[in-house]
Amino acid sequence: MWRVTAVVLFLLTEGPRLQGQDVFSSGGAPAAMDGGIVIGVTPLGNGDCDVKIKNPRTHYVHSRTVPCDTVSRGRTFLPKVLPSRDAPPQFAKALSAYLDSIQRAAAADPGSPVNNLLKQLAEAPVTVQPRPPKDESNVTPYSPPGKPVSLTWSPSDNGRYAADGASKSACATLLHELTHAWENYNGLDNGELQAVRAENWLIWKQGGTQRTRYNGNALPRDQVIWPAAGR
Ligand SMILES: [Zn+2]
Repeated sequence: MWRVTAVVLFLLTEGPRLQGQDVFSSGGAPAAMDGGIVIGVTPLGNGDCDVKIKNPRTHYVHSRTVPCDTVSRGRTFLPKVLPSRDAPPQFAKALSAYLDSIQRAAAADPGSPVNNLLKQLAEAPVTVQPRPPKDESNVTPYSPPGKPVSLTWSPSDNGRYAADGASKSACATLLHELTHAWENYNGLDNGELQAVRAENWLIWKQGGTQRTRYNGNALPRDQVIWPAAGR
């Protein structure tokens, strides 16, 4: 286990800089990770990642297979929000990229109540699954308070909402579902109010048109439209 921890710690500090170097060989004994340098991480598409480790003394490169979520844990922002094990690599990448965008938007708006939501959300273990093709919208099914939450999401959800012509962005819809996850984890049920409020915050930050309706029902504007929704 400490070896995996060493990989994660290394990825945090050195991983991206060292990726892309030559890999001379693969395969090898588990002991290869001892004192080795991670030079590449490649998702295998089955939830596992191939990690290449180089011995700095001999320059010999070994390959290890570890669960990708072990690698994802190197993320410091919402580290418990992870792609499902069967998600394709491009989905995991999109999830990380959109989480980065949410983090940047929150960092640029430190006074926003969204930061409280994100802080509390960091406690909740959330599995993000690719949305089944037959589904037209993302879903966060009910889960008991304090228990892991699973939700579906599509990283290509962009365009306009038919109900009100508001901007639809995959980054904002991710935050919408994560808000439902936060509600589940904390035993809250706010209907769509808080989820649309959080989604609208990001739409607002992205310069888009905020949502005023949910499935044909008008939402209280002073509670969901920013900047008023932040007061
Ligand atoms: Zn919702």
